[in-house]
Amino acid sequence: MQIEQELARLRAQLNEYNYQYYVLDDPTVPDAEYDRLMERLKALEAQHPELISPDSPTQKVGAAPVGAFGEVEHEVPMLSLDNAFDADSFAAFEKRVHDRLKDDSKVTWCCEPKLDGLAVSLLYEDGKLVRGATRGDGRTGENITANVKTIANLPLSLRGEDYPKRLEVRGEVFMTKAGFEALNDSQRKQGGKIFANPRNAAAGSLRQLDSRITAKRPLRIYVYSMGLVEGEQSPLANSHYQRLQQLRGWGLPLCPQTGLAQDRAGCEAFYEKIMAIRDSLDYEIDGLVCKVDDIGLQQRLGFVARAPRWAVAWKFPAQEQMTELLDVEFQV
Ligand code: NAD
Repeated sequence: MQIEQELARLRAQLNEYNYQYYVLDDPTVPDAEYDRLMERLKALEAQHPELISPDSPTQKVGAAPVGAFGEVEHEVPMLSLDNAFDADSFAAFEKRVHDRLKDDSKVTWCCEPKLDGLAVSLLYEDGKLVRGATRGDGRTGENITANVKTIANLPLSLRGEDYPKRLEVRGEVFMTKAGFEALNDSQRKQGGKIFANPRNAAAGSLRQLDSRITAKRPLRIYVYSMGLVEGEQSPLANSHYQRLQQLRGWGLPLCPQTGLAQDRAGCEAFYEKIMAIRDSLDYEIDGLVCKVDDIGLQQRLGFVARAPRWAVAWKFPAQEQMTELLDVEFQV
C-alpha cells in the first residue's frame, strides 16, 4: 500500500511539473529535481512492473497540445530520449545495445550536443516549408507554421533538386545566450515577463498566438533527424551522420559540434570535449546525445514506450540548480 501511495504521489507531482513546463512554459522546479523524482518513479516501477500504468509519466512524452493552436498528427511519432546521468549508466546503456544486437555488429556512434530548446517537426513538400509543429505528446503536436517561418536560420525552400518530395525534418529551436540576455533586458525595460532561462524563452516565444511577437524573438534552429520521408529522388544514406550531411546539403542548419565516435571510449572522449567547451558555445546544451549511427541497426533495436533503444541523452551534472530555482522564484 505504501508503495502505491508513493507511486501516486510521484505521478501527480510529475504530471503537475509537466503541465507547468510543457503547457505554461513556466517551470517551478529545476530540471535536476524533476529528473530526481522521475528516476525514483522509474526505479519503483522497475521493482513493481505490475503497478505500471499506461498513463504514468514514465510512459508518456511531453504533454497534449493546448486548444489554442490547430493540431498536427505526427505520422511518425516524435519520441523523447532515455537519460544517462554518469559514465556508469552510459556504459550500461552501451552494453544493453550490444546485448540486444546479440552479434558482433560493430556500433559506430553519432554524437551530438543535447541542445536545450524544444523539439519541432518541419514538413517540406516539393522543397517548400508547408508546416511546422511542436512535439506535443509525441503523437499530436501544435500547428505553429506561421511561427517557425519567422526563425532566422530556417530556410523556407530547400536547396538543390534531389530532396525527397515529402520530407519531414526534426530539430531543436533554441535561443542563443546573447539573444536571451537581450530579450530579458528589453522585457525588463517594458515591464514584460522575465524568462528563467533560454529554453523557456524559446518555448514561450515559439508558442505565441501572434507570430509577429515570435518574429521579434531571437530564435534559431539546428536540425537533428528525418521523420517521414516520401518520394526520394536520391537514395537516403544508411548512416545517421550521413543523413545529417544530406540535410545540410539541402540547406538545413546542423549543429557544428556533431561528430562520430568509434566506440564507448570515443563517446566518453566526445562527452569530455563537449563539456569542456560548453561555456564557450553561444547556445545552451545540457548533455551529449549518442545515437547508433547505422540506420539498419537502429531499426533492429527499435523503441520502447517513449524513447528509442538506439539513443541516449547523457546529461551533464546539474550546474546551476540553485540559480535556476532562484530565478524562477524571483519571477513568481
Ligand atoms: P529530454 O529533453 O531529456 O530529451 C529529448 C529531447 O531532447 C528531444 O525531444 C529533443 O527536443 C531534445 N534534443 C536536443 N538535442 C537533440 C539531438 N541532438 N537529438 C535528438 N534530440 C535532441 O526529454 P524531454 O522529454 O523533452 O524532457 C524531459 C526533460 O525536460 C527532463 O529530463 C527535465 O530535464 C526537463 N523537464 C523539466 C521539468 C521541470 O519542471 N523543471 C518538467 C518537465 C521536463
